[in-house]
Amino acid sequence: SSSNSDDEEPGRVRVAVRLRPRNAEDPLPDSDFADCVELQPEMKRLKLRKNNWSSESYKFDEVFTESASQKRVYEVVAKPVVESVLNGYNGTVMAYGQTGTGKTYTVGKLGNEGTPERGIMVRALEDIIANTSPAFDVVEVSYLQLYLESIQDLLAPAKNNITIVEDPKTGGVSLLGITVVKIQDLDHFLHLLQIGEANRHAANTKMNTESSRSHAILMVSVQRPAQEKVEHEVSSQESDSASGLASGSGVPTMLKSKLLIVDLAGSERIDKSGSNGHLLEEAKFINLSLTSLGKCINALAEKSPHIPTRDSKLTRLLRDSFGGSSRTSLIITIGPSARHHAETASTIMFGQRAM
Ligand code: ADP
Ligand code: MG
Repeated sequence: SSSNSDDEEPGRVRVAVRLRPRNAEDPLPDSDFADCVELQPEMKRLKLRKNNWSSESYKFDEVFTESASQKRVYEVVAKPVVESVLNGYNGTVMAYGQTGTGKTYTVGKLGNEGTPERGIMVRALEDIIANTSPAFDVVEVSYLQLYLESIQDLLAPAKNNITIVEDPKTGGVSLLGITVVKIQDLDHFLHLLQIGEANRHAANTKMNTESSRSHAILMVSVQRPAQEKVEHEVSSQESDSASGLASGSGVPTMLKSKLLIVDLAGSERIDKSGSNGHLLEEAKFINLSLTSLGKCINALAEKSPHIPTRDSKLTRLLRDSFGGSSRTSLIITIGPSARHHAETASTIMFGQRAM
């Protein structure tokens, strides 16, 4: 892991870990022995306590303590992905962890301009809007939730069984009939996110489910004339670039790229004993998409020529934003309490297997 491995390995998954500050739900440290992790951010290491005498140390691309700001998390985890998307490549930012550890705070937190608490989705759009021109570029978003292997449009919740379509020629993934909104400015985007959140809440109340069990996915598509970025490389009409579509007769080649920001379902194991049929189904499907995501990021880490994206809707959706020339960041979130030692250990192992 040298410092310039970033450019040499675009498809590698970068993994950061973030510790949530202690809150009222966590037992006090003295009733809880001690925190179950110790961070060494300057060494990018985390020690997980095994018992009172020993601990295991793990290395990550970045280690964020409980005092890390949203701004810093954005700059380290998401900004490189956003920059790569602005240059015409696809990219993904995902948050993985047990419910209550800060996934939504990290990626989905709203807030108006200048609010230090704003999360990755808002900051990413702010950056994309600032670096594109409404006269030449098109920025569009869709917002969806994936629950029990069904895709629901969070901007038009009556559409709750959206189909994934793959272009056999380009391998590009799209969603049939999903609402796509062209973004004018940040306030417009914030308004859409609010609508999406309200729809998510209403849909989950109606189905009597918890949003912690669904994946929320923001899809941002950026289209810009290729000349803006690659003019020195474009020497003839045939020139094609990253994911740009060559078009003839004076129409500028457009670079098309996509950013996915994913607030994953809680990684905690769902108790199967004593649950009814519906919950059992739910447990099976939630584990399906997270398990299959784990398999894909393991395969990426092992540089396997085959990434098994077919097994779940989540990984089918990620297919063209994952590996290859795409850039992927994973942020795993953990809490400090020793009470959740087993879940914290399992989250850390998920992150380690991606590296
Ligand atoms: P998750 O989405 O993983 O279930 P949340 O993002 O909802 O978890 O976080 C749980 C609670 O902890 C929320 O009240 C949230 O505001 C708070 N929280 C999480 N991370 C942080 C943080 N880094 N700083 C301050 N509060 C946080
Ligand atoms: Mg959440």
